[in-house]
Amino acid sequence: MAYIVIAASFGLAGGIIGRIKGSSFLLWFLISALVPFFGLLAAIAYRFERDELRRQCPNCGRVTKLYDALCTRCGTELEFPEVALSPERTPPALHGH
Ligand SMILES: [Zn+2]
Repeated sequence: MAYIVIAASFGLAGGIIGRIKGSSFLLWFLISALVPFFGLLAAIAYRFERDELRRQCPNCGRVTKLYDALCTRCGTELEFPEVALSPERTPPALHGH
C-alpha cells in the first residue's frame, strides 16, 4: 500500500516536470512511478532541447541559445536579454480588429 502511494507521488511529480519541460505527462508519470526516485531524477535532469529559451543576436539576427555569451556567427558579445524567445510559443493569432 505504501509503495503505491510513493509510486503515485513520484509519478505525479515526474509527470508534471515532464509536462513543464514540454514532454509527455503520461510518459514521465509512468517512468517516475515505475522507477521511483530515479525516474524523477531523470525527468529533472533530462534536457528537453525544444524547451530551451533562445534569443536573437542584435548584430546579425542569428537565434542563439539563451546561455550563449557570444554569438556563434558574428562573435558579438551578448548580454543577458530582458526578453527571451520561447521556442514553444508561436505568436498568438490576431482575431478581428
Ligand atoms: Zn551575431
